[in-house]
Amino acid sequence: MMTNSEPGRGMGPILEALRRVWGYDHLRPLQTEAVDAALSGRDALVVLPTGGGKSLCYQLPPLVSGKATVVVSPLIALMRDQVRALEVNGYPAAALHSGVDFEDVRAIESRLHSGEVNLVLAAPERMVTTGFRGLLARLADAGRLGAIAVDEAHCISQWGHDFRPEYRRLAELREVVPHTPMQAFTATATPRVRQDIIVQLGLREPEVLVGVFDRPNLTYRVRARQSGALAFKQAAEAIARHQRAGEGGAIVYCISRKEAEEFAEALRGLGFDAQPYHAGMKDHQREHVERAFINEQLGVVCATVAFGMGIDRSNVRLVVHAACPKSVEAYQQEAGRAGRDGEPAECLLLYGSSDAARWSRLILRDVPPGSPVPVSARAQLDLIREAQRFVATMRCRHRALSEHFGQAYEPPGPNGCGACDVCLGETEVEPDSARIAQILMSAVARLDQRWGAAHVTDVVRGAENKIIKANAHDALSVHGMLKNHARGEVQMYLEQLVAMGALQRHLTESGFEVLRFGDLGNAVMKAQTPVTLARPMGSGSMRREKTRKTRSATAEPMVLNADEQALFETLRHLRLTIAKEESIPPYMVFSDATLREMAQRRPNSRRAMMEIKGVGQAKWDAFGQSFLEALSASSH
Ligand code: ADP
Ligand code: ZN
Repeated sequence: MMTNSEPGRGMGPILEALRRVWGYDHLRPLQTEAVDAALSGRDALVVLPTGGGKSLCYQLPPLVSGKATVVVSPLIALMRDQVRALEVNGYPAAALHSGVDFEDVRAIESRLHSGEVNLVLAAPERMVTTGFRGLLARLADAGRLGAIAVDEAHCISQWGHDFRPEYRRLAELREVVPHTPMQAFTATATPRVRQDIIVQLGLREPEVLVGVFDRPNLTYRVRARQSGALAFKQAAEAIARHQRAGEGGAIVYCISRKEAEEFAEALRGLGFDAQPYHAGMKDHQREHVERAFINEQLGVVCATVAFGMGIDRSNVRLVVHAACPKSVEAYQQEAGRAGRDGEPAECLLLYGSSDAARWSRLILRDVPPGSPVPVSARAQLDLIREAQRFVATMRCRHRALSEHFGQAYEPPGPNGCGACDVCLGETEVEPDSARIAQILMSAVARLDQRWGAAHVTDVVRGAENKIIKANAHDALSVHGMLKNHARGEVQMYLEQLVAMGALQRHLTESGFEVLRFGDLGNAVMKAQTPVTLARPMGSGSMRREKTRKTRSATAEPMVLNADEQALFETLRHLRLTIAKEESIPPYMVFSDATLREMAQRRPNSRRAMMEIKGVGQAKWDAFGQSFLEALSASSH
């Protein structure tokens, strides 16, 4: 067995393949271990954040072992993109899905048997068909099967945010090819989901490789969403900031289709090229939007959360959540679509007091009234609460996310992460915290701990609605005591009280969520415990990101001077032309980071060009000369 510290067997060919195919000169630490596990026939669970480089972990071994790896992948779009990207790198691969006809399937199978193709992607439901089992068994018998890789493995767990029952049957493959190692990959797994993946897939003494979850290049901001059209302006302001800087796409995530439409329309009205993307659109419309975005012909997509699973546009500079996400895992994954190229990007979350209730309704929609809430739905409701806590707590966002995934967070400097609203000092402390906390606690007490956050808010804000009248809640002493505070603000304070344990949410038998006292309830009500409530500032008062200096070195963008910037633009233009000619997305030609490095180092020979990160053999052959010419033309 090869250990990490011993670069003996295999490292030479691995690095050779890495250089030739991808133009990279070293593996990241966990990639080395994952490749090693696959090559030595061990099971593994690899948990790396989005952009961490999971695909290489299963794409590399076949190049070294000469055996096939079969990859389970949940989406056709994802498979197609991956196969195309590999082919551009001169790496033959194939995808088996419902869009591939019988003839092609036969052709792919024979290329697999002959060793012409050593990487095949397939949907989970396809993997367990009789035909596919037969194929796997024959490959294994012929000694041609190296590994089974399960991508997006969290889909197997109902504790995860993206449960897909089809994944559950993958364990059956173990009976078909008992000696083939299985490797599971995911970007988002809490310890509970991790355990579930291992159990459900039947992994045997797996190597568990968990990467660092923090994404230092992302700046997180959480803001209360302003009402009506002002919310569009909040998003627009952020988009404008990034588009002024010249490049990169933005994704706006919405809960509903209607919202996605409204956001897109409003943003178009404000002068942005924005399009909606949701399940209610026709397939070809959706595909059109997706392609335009990947091809950098569209700047902004306003989407329901389905968008982006298959999107590998690496220069997304901004992800806006127009509402609280449905779980912290989902947030990490969606927000994680920003800055995959490792350069600075922003994640702006706009939350409103009704968001959690909307998610709950969506989850409980299929539960008949009166019947008990099923375990999987309860799990989803728990996840919503965690997301609310994340939003409400005024703690460093990088820290909160890392800790959510069970990892300690070491801030890079004395001022915290330097890349979130809390550490950047963009939140304000409410000077009247103690009194407000007492009012809210006594309101919950006076309401017999039997009402939800929305009603508590109405009462303290002095609403005069029917329910309040019918229950004589306008006669309570707390009625109207916080009438000068905005609704969103009060809701936010309630969230913070929940987050600190003064209050807790309780789900009644009928699925109604009420606020009760938590462990610290009495102490806070009697002012025996100090309470600091924070109120997030609205948009507009955001400080410029002057604390960049404290950020870790890896997050530093490559800073180009004016000449280099102009050259970079020229190279991007060339990239776009080539991408159109070749009908591939620009990022598949070269990434922004690669073009920046070219603009800065100005390689003037094949050799110098191939030292640039991201220029491998196939890309040199296909595009190298054109870029050399562009570089040389610009130096005259
Ligand atoms: P994930 O699937 O984990 O989100 P990807 O496999 O798409 O991540 O990789 C993210 C980016 O990082 C890709 O552009 C990929 O080519 C690049 N990358 C992966 N491994 C390395 C490496 N060892 N050196 C340099 N770049 C890498
Ligand atoms: Zn922070």
